[in-house]
Amino acid sequence: MSKTFQIDDIYDPQSRFDNLQNIEPEFWKKKKLEEMSREEWELLCDGCGKCCLNKLEIKGKIRFTNTCCRFLDCKTCLCRIYENRFEKVPDCRDIDLDAVREKPRWLPKTCAYWLLDNGQDLPEWHPLKTGKAVSVHQAGMSLQNRGVVSETGINNYEDYIIHWEDL
Ligand code: SF4
Ligand code: SF4
Repeated sequence: MSKTFQIDDIYDPQSRFDNLQNIEPEFWKKKKLEEMSREEWELLCDGCGKCCLNKLEIKGKIRFTNTCCRFLDCKTCLCRIYENRFEKVPDCRDIDLDAVREKPRWLPKTCAYWLLDNGQDLPEWHPLKTGKAVSVHQAGMSLQNRGVVSETGINNYEDYIIHWEDL
């Protein structure tokens, strides 16, 4: 029997950052990733959407393409089926410690989890520093307005390889 999946109502991304006063200030500087609470872990995601780009592994290196999962909303950079994503998209990856440390690296260089796990601070545009979810877009660090297309109907991903500096 086939399943029916609902398209989620996309939530307001700002809602994640509206109660930062209840969170330990600069927790990301005081804790390792493995010590963070679920809430802290979730707050680290900057909402860039770049982990939802399709990628190719060529000669041991990850090459990003400017095609994205068909369930990504390219305007908001949010998943449209977040609650069902692992059922609907078998190769959708949970962002856990294994994913962050996987070699070859497939998360973008700007990914907060990867940065912190590699001894770096969050960038100044990160929503945890600005208090605004939109700051990732304003800094040009998300997928917004970068010519990303949905994977639907695309066969030859090699034609879509990109070399953005923030990947
Ligand atoms: S690349 Fe990292 S920071 Fe960006 S959306 Fe994916 S998990 Fe979040
Ligand atoms: S299903 Fe997974 S890969 Fe696709 S948009 Fe949602 S989170 Fe991204």
